[in-house]
Amino acid sequence: MYCSELGEQWHAARVEPSIGHLDAASAGRSSNAVITTLHEHLIREARNGSYIAADERAEALEAGRRALGSLIGHRAEEIVFRDSARSALRALLNTMALPLSPTVWVAKNEFGPNLLEFERRDFAVRTMPEGDVYGHVDVDSLENMLQFEQPDFIHVCHIGSASGLVQPVAKIVEVAHNAGVPVIVDMAQSVGHVPTVTGADVVYGTSRKWLTGPRGVGFIAIRPDSRIDVRLLPSESFIAGQLALSTAVAEFLDIGQQRVYTELAGIGRIARERLHGIGSWEVMEPVDEPSALVTLAPPPGWRPADVQAARDRLREIGLLVTAADSWRAPLAGEDSLLRISPHLDVRPEQLDQLANAIRTMGY
Ligand SMILES: *Cc1c(COP(=O)(O)O)cnc(C)c1O
Repeated sequence: MYCSELGEQWHAARVEPSIGHLDAASAGRSSNAVITTLHEHLIREARNGSYIAADERAEALEAGRRALGSLIGHRAEEIVFRDSARSALRALLNTMALPLSPTVWVAKNEFGPNLLEFERRDFAVRTMPEGDVYGHVDVDSLENMLQFEQPDFIHVCHIGSASGLVQPVAKIVEVAHNAGVPVIVDMAQSVGHVPTVTGADVVYGTSRKWLTGPRGVGFIAIRPDSRIDVRLLPSESFIAGQLALSTAVAEFLDIGQQRVYTELAGIGRIARERLHGIGSWEVMEPVDEPSALVTLAPPPGWRPADVQAARDRLREIGLLVTAADSWRAPLAGEDSLLRISPHLDVRPEQLDQLANAIRTMGY
């Protein structure tokens, strides 16, 4: 019935979707418990006053930070919240001590809006060497490069927005630290999706995607012994959202994080195997890449508008996916891709439906 053993449990914890939701990479479906937490705190704020309500829930907030920290390899006090991953990055870049024309190295899957943040601040951006056609960073070549030259920091998307590729972040951190170079990791697509204890100096991400917390909560964590000189103060923030994220993380830990990662990797494989060789569409990741984010390149000659039309057509038949245009990963090419990102409750017949629909679109 479901692709994952956990599918039924995941499904039962949520409202019945009105569409085949294959779009966790945009925003995952929150559980009923997450929605209840959100709702209850908003009521508590109106009843008792918002600041008192926050004080009353201080322990739960702390427990939530501790639990989130356990997923990303940080202690509770190292985490601060912003309203999105992007505002977390902005806060970081606006606050960290840097030389006049800083240099940052990134991977081919770098998120376009992050590149804009670097450009806006006149950073020199270079790409790290690739080890294969897919764009995984070649850690050995990187280690060699770092002997001759060191950027001010490395910034890497653990998983990008337009590819299911998982970058070898722990290894990148190891060789970077050996060369005295700090590493910042964008975990927006990886937290709740793949193992995220990496040893990086700074990590940041978002609640709403694979963790299926609410929208409007981003987090950033800075190691106290970080080579990056920065201190972020807590700012006005969405307390109900943070509590709801805590509920999402608690549910996630109850299932068992390793179990979720294994099941999601299995779903990625099932989806890629199912979609491989359909019409002239091309699966862009290795079949066994350990993620559930799957991208398909369209048949030759398709323009971005054609991929958007395919996305719209899929929505009409009841499937929610993303048309991932090139702004999401401008270093990776100019093609628009169809992005499929099922969570644990995906069913085989939804993948069949998708495969059949794009087969007839792909002549
Ligand atoms: C979604 C995403 C972001 C931005 O997250 P927001 O919370 O929308 O700011 C950053 N990086 C990657 C790789 C993403 O997929």
